[in-house]
Amino acid sequence: MEFVYNANPSRVIFGAGSRARIGEELERLGIERAIVISTPDQSALAAQIARAIGGRAGIMYPGAVQHTPVEVTESALLAVSSVRADGCLAVGGGSTTGLSKAIAYRTDLPQLVVPTTFAGSEMTPILGQTEAGRKTTLSSPKVLPETVIYDPELTVTMPGFIAGPSGMNAVAHAVEALYAKDRNPIVSMMAEASIRALGKALPVLMDDPGNPAAHAEALYGAWLAGVCLGSVGMAIHHKICHTLGGTFNLNHADIHALMIPYTAAYNREAAPEAMARIASALEAEDGPTGIYQLTQRAATWRSLAAMGLTQAALDKAADIAMENPYYNPRPVTREGVREMLQAAFEGRAP
Ligand code: NAD
Repeated sequence: MEFVYNANPSRVIFGAGSRARIGEELERLGIERAIVISTPDQSALAAQIARAIGGRAGIMYPGAVQHTPVEVTESALLAVSSVRADGCLAVGGGSTTGLSKAIAYRTDLPQLVVPTTFAGSEMTPILGQTEAGRKTTLSSPKVLPETVIYDPELTVTMPGFIAGPSGMNAVAHAVEALYAKDRNPIVSMMAEASIRALGKALPVLMDDPGNPAAHAEALYGAWLAGVCLGSVGMAIHHKICHTLGGTFNLNHADIHALMIPYTAAYNREAAPEAMARIASALEAEDGPTGIYQLTQRAATWRSLAAMGLTQAALDKAADIAMENPYYNPRPVTREGVREMLQAAFEGRAP
């Protein structure tokens, strides 16, 4: 047994109602005038939180959008300097966290993130941003949020079409962590626990969207998945989702939710130990089949055809996926990727 384990330093507060501790946690970080970031859709929640923290809310910025465009970051930086904000408070999903990270990358301001989806971005030093239509990714310790408050009372408002795919996005982080090149026993343990928690909670959430116990369990699984994503390298799944999402402007969580059974199946023979752990976590006969069954409950879209892709789009995606070589347990070939995309196009069981 030989491995390297690198922990990312962050403080995590978890529990129903824990948003009541935002004020004291800002104080702990020395933040006196935060820029309070949200999407337009979640501005009411952000305003409610701002009222609760009184003077520590320096300025509201309800303008976060998907893929962190640099124009939005530049406009948010003007808001930061207008009140000399000394920290970021992000309330929302991966898009909101992304804007907070983009500000922190440029200013080194401390961040307190309050996630309201299962995306997991809050636990990673990774920032994806878009400039002139091109999405690039960087990794920097400046980007990792200092404090994260997970309050499962804030995820209950997600409708099923957001909650299910968001949960599968987290599952995808954990699945790839199990066969990562730089995997290690601690992160693999977290990955398996994450898949177990999400596998149990997501079907309950889909039937009973307000179920508090299921939200707590799913958010716990999402936290673990975020740690996995921030700790070890990802492989074919994240690469192909990045390609499909970026090239055809598809929703981030939806494409992850649709593709994860197929990418797992691509690695079925090459990563038997990972597959066995996934199967055990999902109480399924086989890893990819267990994931596929879960997507049948949680994913919004069941095929690339239903998402509007064409055969020509699959050819293009397979070409792009071959452009930069990257680690994957099974060698990545154009023919293999194209076959995998075809199965996902048809939505057949992998
Ligand atoms: P999102 O943040 O775009 O949110 C999707 C929609 O759901 C938005 O309209 C938002 O307002 C709404 N929403 C969020 N929480 C809600 C709630 N509790 N109730 C009702 N509505 C709610 O989606 P996401 O999937 O969380 O994040 C996707 C983005 O995050 C992508 O840009 C992706 O690249 C990024 N991401 C980055 C990392 C990383 O490590 N850098 C990891 C995962 C995702």
